[in-house]
Amino acid sequence: MVFYSTRSKAHTADSTEAVLKGIAPDGGLYTPVDFEQMRVDIGALLNMSAVEISAEVIGKILSDFTPEQMRALIEAAYDGKFETEDLTPVEKVGDDFVLELFRGPTSAFKDVALSVLPRLITAAKDVLGVKDEIVILTATSGDTGKAALEGFHDVPGTRIVVFYPDGGVSDVQKAQMVTQAGNNVGVCAVKGNFDDAQTGVKNIFADDEQNRWAAENGARLSSANSINIGRLAPQVAYYFKAYCDLVLRGEIRLNDPVNFVVPTGNFGDILAGEFARRMGLPVAKLVCASNANNVLTDFIRTGVYDRRREFYKTASPSMDILVSSNLERYLFLASGGDFELVAGLMADLRDKGVYTAPESLMQEMRDHFSAGCADDAAALDAIGRVWREHGYLMDTHTAVGWAVLEQFKANEDNGWVNVVLSTASPYKFSRDVLSAITDDVPESGFGAMDKLNAITGVPVPAALAALREKEPRFTDCVEKDEMLEYVKERLK
Ligand SMILES: *Cc1c(COP(=O)(O)O)cnc(C)c1O
Repeated sequence: MVFYSTRSKAHTADSTEAVLKGIAPDGGLYTPVDFEQMRVDIGALLNMSAVEISAEVIGKILSDFTPEQMRALIEAAYDGKFETEDLTPVEKVGDDFVLELFRGPTSAFKDVALSVLPRLITAAKDVLGVKDEIVILTATSGDTGKAALEGFHDVPGTRIVVFYPDGGVSDVQKAQMVTQAGNNVGVCAVKGNFDDAQTGVKNIFADDEQNRWAAENGARLSSANSINIGRLAPQVAYYFKAYCDLVLRGEIRLNDPVNFVVPTGNFGDILAGEFARRMGLPVAKLVCASNANNVLTDFIRTGVYDRRREFYKTASPSMDILVSSNLERYLFLASGGDFELVAGLMADLRDKGVYTAPESLMQEMRDHFSAGCADDAAALDAIGRVWREHGYLMDTHTAVGWAVLEQFKANEDNGWVNVVLSTASPYKFSRDVLSAITDDVPESGFGAMDKLNAITGVPVPAALAALREKEPRFTDCVEKDEMLEYVKERLK
């Protein structure tokens, strides 16, 4: 499979190169265009296990790994790590469905992909005969960082440095990261928000001098953010898996379209749904759900992407993003692979903070996407109601999805089955979740965890419960223009 940079014809890569590089030399994102070649026969998936479906679907996208290699890699990646053999179970909640993506080791959906990525990277190194140490640099809004640390710690031939926004993640998220074990890991706060941290990381990648410096030290920089196609591919699989579950349970017939509602930040998860659709999954609408940082809602409705707006810290911090990196891949796909257009729009975004997509592209987008947003009050209201009415406990990100599902059903119900993607365990955000069902909320995240458990009886994931016993290992905090220095220091 050929992957194209979204910004110029000059840069193509096969799947192993795309995984290893993470981002193209021109700053573009590696994207496949020939989805016919990646078509999946859904009937053939119906009697496969979750691991088999993953190997099949990921293998279609990253086709330069052999099927045997892929199968072995996926089996090893998920072996014993998830709470259920299903990996990503589907729960019925009222008339709708929740696709639980948070049953992995760090209790967020990022585990689905970040369990696989380190193995893809080391396999790609072998295929390409690369001896350099791979240095993973990652900006996180809370969940990616921990999932990446968990995936990469002590993986031979790799190191990882994670930057998170100071004060921008929950107590539990912070505790998860700063207590991370492993000899090849570094964790550092950045004085700024997630976009600052992400921009800082992107700048390090784009810095030629920095890359030369890394090469001279036998290192090669790569990314665990969803700009890496190796992050995106594993996420495509669970759309197929969920669909198969619905067919097998008699909730839909094979070939019936389904709506997927996706709590969105960097546009990675929902783009994986678009990949699935282009690979043959019957998708009615992909509903993009945003919190108060609703830049994507406005974009899908108006065609104007305008990041020049107030940034809100919300109860769904993993979606507090104003620059959704993976939208670039969608612009590329929806424009039929128009490099010049995408490069121009991205230059506008960088220089002016705003761009306007052509109407033809927006028509294509609106055929397949719908959008809505829900602020904290609406999300917490949804948590409370769904708990009381259905006995189902959602986290704050999933709740944004649920609230937007309700808007979608009220405004444009198309009659098809709806699946809300659930992206985190409620216990990662215990204080906010608890506040939705009672007025009396303990100060500490861990106190809230206990109380939430006592009230609801929903089990606390073992790894989260164990966190409070652990000592922090990392207390570093840097200015946003000091990130490069920090990386150099860690690599010495
Ligand atoms: C990362 C994340 C999201 C947003 O996913 P994107 O792929 O960035 O759109 C939503 N919810 C949670 C809990 C997350 O960790």
